[in-house]
Amino acid sequence: MRTLLDLDPKGKRVLVRVDYNVPIQGGKVQDETRILESLPTLRHLLEGGASLVLLSHLGRPKGPDPKHSLAPVGEALKAHIPEARFAPFLPGSEEARREAEALRPGEVLLLENVRFEPGEEKNDPELAARYARLGEAFVLDAFGSAHRAHASVVGVARLLPAYAGFLMEKEVKALSRLLQDPERPYAVVLGGAKVSDKIGVIESLLPRIDRLLIGGAMAFTFLKALGKEVGKSLVEEDRLDLAQDLLRRAEGLGVRVYLPEDVVAAERIEAGVETRLFPAEAIPIPYMGLDIGPKTREAFARALEGARTVFWNGPMGVFEVPPFDEGTLAVGRAIASLEGAFTVVGGGDSVAAVNRLGLKDRFSHVSTGGGASLEFLEKGTLPGIEVLK
Ligand code: ADP
Ligand code: MG
Repeated sequence: MRTLLDLDPKGKRVLVRVDYNVPIQGGKVQDETRILESLPTLRHLLEGGASLVLLSHLGRPKGPDPKHSLAPVGEALKAHIPEARFAPFLPGSEEARREAEALRPGEVLLLENVRFEPGEEKNDPELAARYARLGEAFVLDAFGSAHRAHASVVGVARLLPAYAGFLMEKEVKALSRLLQDPERPYAVVLGGAKVSDKIGVIESLLPRIDRLLIGGAMAFTFLKALGKEVGKSLVEEDRLDLAQDLLRRAEGLGVRVYLPEDVVAAERIEAGVETRLFPAEAIPIPYMGLDIGPKTREAFARALEGARTVFWNGPMGVFEVPPFDEGTLAVGRAIASLEGAFTVVGGGDSVAAVNRLGLKDRFSHVSTGGGASLEFLEKGTLPGIEVLK
């Protein structure tokens, strides 16, 4: 990838694609992580004498929609970069171009949500050409969007000299270590809702790892594939054969697989609902498994001992609803307490759990990209990386 160090920003107007897809409530940004992670790139370019035009998406609007305006992000950004301002123009519009052309070195302009443009997700070449007029060079720092072949990610990158930002570089470097010569033993912890979301990652990582720990709802598809009684737990019936096949392949590759031994179960997903503890292979109807139990938490912590490389994706239970968050918190703590290991967490919900625990600094890398990090581990590259080569 061409990087920022290949670009002399002096006197240039640089178009930067950031990922400011952040949670907003009541017109205020709730979690600034992605904004903070973009600052090294923005400051480097500003100190080098550039002016900046920023593009980002926010949420999944179907056309222009004030609920998905980047205005609150502009406010939050200004607290860190006082020269930044938000202009409510469609990024492909004439007004946007005029504002961009009037920028002086040191100034920063954030334009409105790229997904307000109908051509954005279709990677419309005509829209990409209008984006390209906003700057003289393009920097892609939106790692969380780098798996999308959209106009503001790959379309415009083909039309301007294009470079990877510092966040993009940091993510690719950290995630590459999970694929290339990882230190062994190498453990992967997977959870979350569905096996089907994670098949690609499992298949890619299986030949590289030593231990695979499976929790979350996806564990029940594996347990059922082994003939266990999982009650009303979430099972992907159409993936039972696949689960069996993955377990067989793991065995063939000498990967030790850890599944839950006990589960915290309830009849409904509801805060304060009455919970019961069952062995993972005998959950009676009408109960559903909603978290890993205390025996499993201990077994998983032991299975992680001595690991030199760890990748974690997906919560161990319905961590949004206490008390079903305890398994996820226990696994987060177990990984964070490993000494000298290279530890990475990726995935929107698992990263939220790590942040909630205040354990962010005890991981070697916390990825800002959920889907992007999984797709990178599956394919070893992303559309947004290819376009910078
Ligand atoms: P990530 O965003 O970290 O990649 P996923 O999106 O794959 O994680 O999965 C997170 C979701 O999985 C959460 O909403 C959580 O409630 C759900 N989940 C985890 N365990 C269970 C379970 N046992 N039953 C139902 N849902 C579960
Ligand atoms: Mg998720």
